[in-house]
Amino acid sequence: MAPSAMTRWTKSLSDAQPVSYWLDDPGRPRAEPALTADEQCDLLVVGGGYSGLWTALIAKERDPDRDVVLVEGREAGWAASGRNGGFCAASLTHGLANGLSRWPGEIAKLEELGARNLDEIEAAVKRYSIDCDFERTGEIDVATQPHQLTELREMYEETARHGLAGGSELLDADAVRAHVDSPTFLGGLWDREGVALLNPAKLAWGLKRACLEKGVRVYEHTPALRLVSSGAGMAVRTPYGRIRARQVALATNIFPSLVKRVRAYTVPVYDYALMTEPLTEEQLAAIGWKNRQGLGDSANQFHYFRLSADNRILWGGYDAIYPFGGKLRAEHDDRPETYAKLAGHFFTCFPQLEGVRFTHAWGGAIDTCSRFSAFFGTAHGGRVAYAAGYTGLGVGATRFGADVMLDLLSGERTERTSLEMVRTKPLPFPPEPFAWTGVALTKWSLARADENGGRRNLWLKTMDKLGLGFDS
Ligand SMILES: Cc1cc2nc3c(=O)[nH]c(=O)nc-3n(C[C@H](O)[C@H](O)[C@H](O)COP(=O)(O)OP(=O)(O)OC[C@H]3O[C@@H](n4cnc5c(N)ncnc54)[C@H](O)[C@@H]3O)c2cc1C
Repeated sequence: MAPSAMTRWTKSLSDAQPVSYWLDDPGRPRAEPALTADEQCDLLVVGGGYSGLWTALIAKERDPDRDVVLVEGREAGWAASGRNGGFCAASLTHGLANGLSRWPGEIAKLEELGARNLDEIEAAVKRYSIDCDFERTGEIDVATQPHQLTELREMYEETARHGLAGGSELLDADAVRAHVDSPTFLGGLWDREGVALLNPAKLAWGLKRACLEKGVRVYEHTPALRLVSSGAGMAVRTPYGRIRARQVALATNIFPSLVKRVRAYTVPVYDYALMTEPLTEEQLAAIGWKNRQGLGDSANQFHYFRLSADNRILWGGYDAIYPFGGKLRAEHDDRPETYAKLAGHFFTCFPQLEGVRFTHAWGGAIDTCSRFSAFFGTAHGGRVAYAAGYTGLGVGATRFGADVMLDLLSGERTERTSLEMVRTKPLPFPPEPFAWTGVALTKWSLARADENGGRRNLWLKTMDKLGLGFDS
């Protein structure tokens, strides 16, 4: 990297606040009071990200008389739900390619349920007047290397063979650059309907408000410390009070599950993003981004990027950092060396935007599992349900996961709980040092493949055969 270029990129970051742009909002609602006495309820939801908020809200929608309590260890939406890219995808399987390779027999059903789930998110946003800048603009996956063009075409043909390419369109270089102009774009695949963009924190806060309006009792700054069976129900200890609940839904994402055996299925992978200042009319015109789709490039180490409501560009991805031992630490949320790398890639993609500055740079932990899409289960004789493992594509899929948890707690077999994807689990990660070594080898191999025209080495081929992987 030439020193002059490095200086230029570093300068673009010199005023960047190390906090999520979405959470740095004067409209952030005040936290609900912590629990200070004993409580009891029909359903206790642990976790105030999308997963928990949807679970509590849908539980009330299904049965308004159900007595629902939600506890959140810090503030609703502070974690992944307030830090993500805001790509709200219909896919329940971390993309069609992953779903097709793992569940070819039920992919059509999974896609149908995913599309319905996204429609239901859109409807709920309207119904509860959630002001989260929801825009169903779709997403273009762009190719920046010739082999990625071939892969996108093959993907399109494969999905067409399964009758699933309906809303998609292949774009050549001119067509993709007519949508968003970067000299690095060689072509793209536009999914017109399967992705909406939104303001992530405002979605979480809006869901919290909707829960409160429906009568869910929400306690923030209330970590659930221990979960035990108690009579016919469950008991949860918090610092200042005990909650007795008939049933419990665990929506704790990458944080240590209160059901210990679930922990080995996920590892934290830190993902990072930058946000620019708002673009001027001239800057926007220079890149032409008229239809406001979300974009992602197609490398193994990929970037995702999009416009905000006030025409900033969010630019994230690429580095996926797994800390040895899978330890969650606040210090991992901030990674200047990744920011410098991301800024460099940003100006390579959009040289027209030279001089633009970043106002925010942040990171957050993703709950990666070895099959890249959520897994579900029950414990304590069916009185506890859990969902986790969304691996970087949980903005939309957590709503589906909420429905699954409620289905499981109801004990009824539904079209969701009948799915192989719901009935099976990913392979767990091995203990250290094997987990770290495996992840490091995979990351190194993926980076090599990106440089080598997409050619996968023996390690990746073996992992592919075993259906194992590492993604963010
Ligand atoms: C940088 C970044 C970018 C991303 N970009 C995208 C994207 O563009 N599109 C997409 O689909 N996905 C994206 N994701 C992933 C997406 O954000 C997550 O899948 C989703 O937010 C998960 O929601 P959740 O409710 O399961 O988890 P979280 O939002 O992490 O919520 C879990 C909550 O549980 C609470 N909790 C945990 N344990 C306890 C306990 N014992 N007691 C009480 N409370 C507890 C935590 O405090 C936390 O608030 C991204 C993630 C990151 C980090």
